[in-house]
Amino acid sequence: MPFLDTINQYDPRQIEERILAKTAADVERALASPQLRLDDFQALLSPAAAGYLEPLAQRAHRLTVQRFGRTILMYAPLYLSNECSNGCRYCGFNAHNKMARRTLTMEEIEAEARVLHERGFRHLLLVTGEAPRLADNSYLCAAVERLRPLFSSMSIEVYPMDRAGYAQTVASGVDGLTLYQETYDRALYAEMHPFGRKRDYAFRLAAPEAAAQAGMRRIGIGALLGLGKFRVEGFFTGLHALYLARHYWRTHLSVSFPRMRPADGGFQPLNPVPDRDFVQLICALRLLLPDAGLVLSTRESATLRDHLLPLGITQMSAGSCTSPGGYAEADESGRQFVIDDDRSHTEVAAMIAKQGYEAVWKDWDPAFHRAG
Ligand code: SF4
Repeated sequence: MPFLDTINQYDPRQIEERILAKTAADVERALASPQLRLDDFQALLSPAAAGYLEPLAQRAHRLTVQRFGRTILMYAPLYLSNECSNGCRYCGFNAHNKMARRTLTMEEIEAEARVLHERGFRHLLLVTGEAPRLADNSYLCAAVERLRPLFSSMSIEVYPMDRAGYAQTVASGVDGLTLYQETYDRALYAEMHPFGRKRDYAFRLAAPEAAAQAGMRRIGIGALLGLGKFRVEGFFTGLHALYLARHYWRTHLSVSFPRMRPADGGFQPLNPVPDRDFVQLICALRLLLPDAGLVLSTRESATLRDHLLPLGITQMSAGSCTSPGGYAEADESGRQFVIDDDRSHTEVAAMIAKQGYEAVWKDWDPAFHRAG
């Protein structure tokens, strides 16, 4: 049964009512439970759990150290193109937004990648908008094949594909996919995506499992925080993650927490997520998914990232640039959104070490796969 059939069994309004009705006793029961059920997860997402942030954070910390040790996997995004034919209302790249558009040539991509390689990154995340005529699978796969010798792990954060499309990228050397549903709320999804291929909610929802079926080794999901109500989005993110973990156990799963940032076009978050709620959401997801990677990008401030690090985070980006060509040319025009933590990769690595953790630049090599 695909995840679409699973999610169709839940009514978001009823889920919200159930979460809001949870009591302190429900939260205490959830905190004492060795293995969270969905009902416990709802309790940890509830307003009643706001008074239990300290024990929640302590348990999230303990679980993460047990499963991952004191390590943070470092990665960097590389924007290949900011062309996009979609109309996502919240994104600076949307087709109606007048901005400098650019699709990097293979030479420019390599120049960007070499900057990141010299900084020590071996995990690369290739990012594009959705512009089938300018940056399609053949372009993406050519970029991957060109960069493969420089990086041990290459992920993509691009348009959704079917199983055959993902199989093509896997064959070129991609081993990871990041794909946010943005919002699990169908009505809001339709409102936020007025035109373009991204209007297809079901196709996007099915894409992570299509990637798993195609042999993608790592898959990252998430909801764009600031669109829907975070408690409900958090619940459906957890449900989606559990589904993927159960059906595609060979694939390593991660969850990201992209909180909306100012973007060209001036979109304001519909449901802003304050810091305390953000922390509660991260800790609740850690307790639900002890083995999942939890990813925190440079969207968040340096101070918040420093404080969140011990609470369950396992992957971080650093020194990121969100415009094509921005590493080699220090050009920030044409960026997708404004980052908040603008420290360099060495400053972030030093902060990680200061907290008693190790910044890991490489945790995988394709040779492992070939050997298997
Ligand atoms: S979120 Fe992605 S698909 Fe939507 S406008 Fe931005 S780049 Fe395009």
